[in-house]
Amino acid sequence: MSVEEQFQSIQSQIQEACVKSNRQTKDVNVIAVTKYVSEETTRKALEAGVTHIGENRAESGLEKKKAIGNQGYWHFIGSLQSRKVKQVINEFDYFHSLDRLSLAKEFQKQSGDSQKVQCFVQVNVSGETSKSGLNPEEVISFVEKLEAYPSITIVGLMTMAPFTEDAEKTRPIFKALRELRDEVAALQLPYAPCSELSMGMSNDYRVAVEEGATFIRIGTALVGNETKAD
Ligand SMILES: *Cc1c(COP(=O)(O)O)cnc(C)c1O
Repeated sequence: MSVEEQFQSIQSQIQEACVKSNRQTKDVNVIAVTKYVSEETTRKALEAGVTHIGENRAESGLEKKKAIGNQGYWHFIGSLQSRKVKQVINEFDYFHSLDRLSLAKEFQKQSGDSQKVQCFVQVNVSGETSKSGLNPEEVISFVEKLEAYPSITIVGLMTMAPFTEDAEKTRPIFKALRELRDEVAALQLPYAPCSELSMGMSNDYRVAVEEGATFIRIGTALVGNETKAD
């Protein structure tokens, strides 16, 4: 299937999940994760109507963005080393992996005073040791401490669920992230509206949408994986 056909198929799956959960499709944004594909394929995604692009490495992400130009919104979805903040801060619209104060401090240092850095706090809901992110019970106090870094806006929470053949198993993880998001939003901190939920990937996005995802990050199922021989 072409990228365009894949995108249409994903959109109809989203629609189904929205009907099931009484949500509106306009509240679900698809991020095309282009880390495994070329510039050409990334362009095809934009031509097919995708408006959000996700990259997880500073160098390759910047290279791709430079080649493509200022189209769409760019999301940095990988873990970010503090020393790379300077390179990416003005190039990406959203950062999905804020997980430590040292990174917040670097965002503050590298941003102009008036500039807002839109971040998701990454949460390790499943507790797998291989995953990064804060433990759920650390999130509230972490967000409270971010008051010291006025450049940062917390737009929402992000998680990666463990890979499983049975996507239904990820439901409790997505539900827990939504409940935590609601708790943070209820604090009504001016710098943390925290209305968004970045969760769901190729194998589990339908369940994530049913549980309230507002940004789903889809690589393989949308643009494929050009690093794997088929
Ligand atoms: C690679 C990646 C994705 C997309 O994974 P697929 O399974 O190919 O859809 C989503 N989120 C993050 C953080 C990633 O690194």
